[in-house]
Amino acid sequence: MIPYGKHSVSEEDVRAVTAVLRSDWLTTGPKVEEFEKAICEYTGASDGVSVSSGTAALHTAVYAAGIGKGDEVIVPPMTFAATANAVLYQGGRPVFVDVDPDTLLIDVAKVEQKINDKTKAIISVDYAGQPCDYDALRKLATDHHLFFISDACHSLGAEYEGEKVGKQADISAFSFHPVKGMTTGEGGMVVTNRHDVAERSRLFRNHGINRTFKERAAKETWYYEMVDLGFNYRLSDIQCALGISQLKRLPAGLKRRRDVASAYDDAFSQQELVKPLGIVPYGVHAYHLYVVRVNTKMTTRAKFFASLRSQGIGVNVHYIPVHLHPYYREHLGTKKGMCPVAEEAYEQIVSLPMYATLTDDEVHSVVEAVGKAGS
Ligand SMILES: *Cc1c(COP(=O)(O)O)cnc(C)c1O
Repeated sequence: MIPYGKHSVSEEDVRAVTAVLRSDWLTTGPKVEEFEKAICEYTGASDGVSVSSGTAALHTAVYAAGIGKGDEVIVPPMTFAATANAVLYQGGRPVFVDVDPDTLLIDVAKVEQKINDKTKAIISVDYAGQPCDYDALRKLATDHHLFFISDACHSLGAEYEGEKVGKQADISAFSFHPVKGMTTGEGGMVVTNRHDVAERSRLFRNHGINRTFKERAAKETWYYEMVDLGFNYRLSDIQCALGISQLKRLPAGLKRRRDVASAYDDAFSQQELVKPLGIVPYGVHAYHLYVVRVNTKMTTRAKFFASLRSQGIGVNVHYIPVHLHPYYREHLGTKKGMCPVAEEAYEQIVSLPMYATLTDDEVHSVVEAVGKAGS
């Protein structure tokens, strides 16, 4: 079976991790800051705060935004549930705004219609690895005094107007889960250009314990103060060492993903059964996912999916629109019809195999299997 996504761990990665295991620091040591600095250097953001997952990064971002009970936060439905869940964790209410039919990125024109007195923030999602229209979203956020969070879990290494994703929003969240562009096993990071936002994020990932008090009371080294309710969301030195090593290979991995995408694009331009998603004019794709829409006049998505699986191609579907999950229906009263573009797309989308170690032969097998699925 060719899976839809796959991590790659090199011998150098293994050596980097075992070196930490033989060192004095397994967590809160020097590798943490080194990894944060490396991600900042790569993305161009000024501060990075590593956390234990992409979900923890989103939760941290929502906390940093100051979201609390009764606050509304705009989110797209075409994402992993964690994007909207992060709002619920802090007592806020996710408000779903539909996506663009071509790219499945949040439809900026529809955002303003959902802004009211309770709206406090926007979370955009760089679906599949393409940057959202950051300038347009930034303008909306500024005009309406909203905090702007980017769920960039798909788009580490993507570019917006010639610059890496990570410094366009007030805060951006990355994931280092094994299916993402690079991995730390589990892990995540928020990056920001705002020092106040970085400080709030550091507080939150460490139980709400204020370090500046500790520094002030330097003579009494046992002293600290917990000033807000935080979590233990720390990423260990073991994981950060893997991250530092993986980041070195990220550019080569992105290049391979882009080459695979253009091979798919070429092959699928010759047929009618599947159509790749649209490409934004202002950015460079990170291809976390390669998503096609199945032509439902020719077959059903269920038949297409089953045919590919039976031919040994590990396709998947990203995503069930968040507002259709039973938890959301029961607790927020969301239902079918609220985001018709995402709902229609959901009936048609399939993610094809896409990862850095996918070979030309495997790409060929996927293309052939797609051809057979239509006959
Ligand atoms: C992977 C992902 C997350 C969650 O990341 P974890 O590291 O698995 O917690 C959140 N949002 C999106 C869009 C993702 O793809």
